[in-house]
Amino acid sequence: MAKRARITTIGGKSWRIEYAHIADYGHCEYGSCRRTRRIRINPNQSDEALLDTLIHEVLHAQDWDLDENAVARRATEMRTAICKMFRVSRIGRGLSNQSAQADE
Ligand SMILES: [Zn+2]
Repeated sequence: MAKRARITTIGGKSWRIEYAHIADYGHCEYGSCRRTRRIRINPNQSDEALLDTLIHEVLHAQDWDLDENAVARRATEMRTAICKMFRVSRIGRGLSNQSAQADE
């Protein structure tokens, strides 16, 4: 089933975020990503991993020069805080699947 892409603003510019069956958890390359402003997320992850990956890739889009370890640490810290405050992990697959399913 095709997954619906979402458009969001990052750094004052429109970015396309879409699910894609890629080898990595997420993808945001400086060259192609900056030109196309597209983030791809592998849907084959747990909800918490999906959230972590989304935050991770948005952090890259915001500041490509940020060190990979800093991006990973910040993403995990943000994901952990969000999950604790909003109990995202208890929502289950419905959260990610409802936003992921539909036409493109
Ligand atoms: Zn990264």
